Amino acid sequence: MKNILIVEDEPSIAELQRDYLEINGFYTDIAVNGAIGLEMGLSGKYDLIILDLMLPLMNGFDICRKIREQLNIPILMVTAKQEDIDMIRGLGLGADDYITKPFKPAEMVARVKAHLSRYERLIGSKISSNEVEIRGLRIDSDSRRVFLNDDEITLTTKEFDLLFYLAQHPNRVFSKELIFERIWGIDAMGDTQTVTVHIRKLREKIEPDSANPQYIETVWGAGYRFRA
Ligand code: CA
Repeated sequence: MKNILIVEDEPSIAELQRDYLEINGFYTDIAVNGAIGLEMGLSGKYDLIILDLMLPLMNGFDICRKIREQLNIPILMVTAKQEDIDMIRGLGLGADDYITKPFKPAEMVARVKAHLSRYERLIGSKISSNEVEIRGLRIDSDSRRVFLNDDEITLTTKEFDLLFYLAQHPNRVFSKELIFERIWGIDAMGDTQTVTVHIRKLREKIEPDSANPQYIETVWGAGYRFRA
């Protein structure tokens, strides 16, 4: 299931978008102003953002720019005027697509699906199922070996499973509870402290500066994400 964030201050439009997306099998959340939209958009929880241009507290231009600095997910901008689109394109904010109001909900859903599958192909071409290579860190799941700039790093079984799991889902935030469930199994004995300890050990091994991690980031109050 994909998570879509709708940033829209007009309730009737937000609800229309939500209803059509949910009918089509997406999870949605709505942010009713720009400040909340930016905060939620940066949480790493969403696969795609539908972003209104004119919003209270912060406009869609600034939100798009700030999200683009940190995350590589599709952003569909919604504007009231066709003229805005040319202007936004000229600004090069990095939005993936533009929809003008009033829009046909079915067309919006079609575009959402198209952009999600395009991004999956992009990420899929960088990350094959057996090997992940990001900024000098290479993880080979067939041989279960990890290299940092061609130097082999020895990991325990669980450290490897944890690293490979996070790296296969780059830029997504996983809570400690979810990580524990996926790596140790629901029936395993233990608690989320196990995850914290393993993350710390992994960082000591793979991060050039474990106090300033560039691969496994802490997202305060949410969990961890592997930054691609
Ligand atoms: Ca608006």
